[in-house]
Amino acid sequence: MKKKKFKHNKNQEKKTIYDDTIAKKEPPTKKKRMKKNPEKNIKKIVYPEFSCARCGLPINELSSAIADKETGLPVHFKCVIDFLTKSETLNEKEEIIYIGNGNFAVIFFENPKIRKKFKIIKLIQWEEKGKDYPWKTEIADLASRV
Ligand SMILES: [Zn+2]
Repeated sequence: MKKKKFKHNKNQEKKTIYDDTIAKKEPPTKKKRMKKNPEKNIKKIVYPEFSCARCGLPINELSSAIADKETGLPVHFKCVIDFLTKSETLNEKEEIIYIGNGNFAVIFFENPKIRKKFKIIKLIQWEEKGKDYPWKTEIADLASRV
């Protein structure tokens, strides 16, 4: 403490006043403040909340979420399937199915009970290929910590 004061001669007056006023309160409060604030900041970053841009319900798992086509915001697979089921004109025995890699498809099932037999009627590219969605890594991080 003394060494610092001698080095900064220009600020000596100001510093001594500052030190005097703080000195009485400093020892107990300063330590607590230093520890509490960083912890609070970290908690806010570690627990972000994601809610579906379509239905507004929370998204807790990466496996149930996909990026919305226009906005890139996280939405439920189910909500996209509901949306596509309404927006695509589906014929009888046709369904919207997620086929992986951010793609959906209109699938024709000869017999809806036999899921192995199907035809892809139309491929629906949903997520942009090779695009990084920051919320995906965040949800993955969250899941790995739980
Ligand atoms: Zn949803």
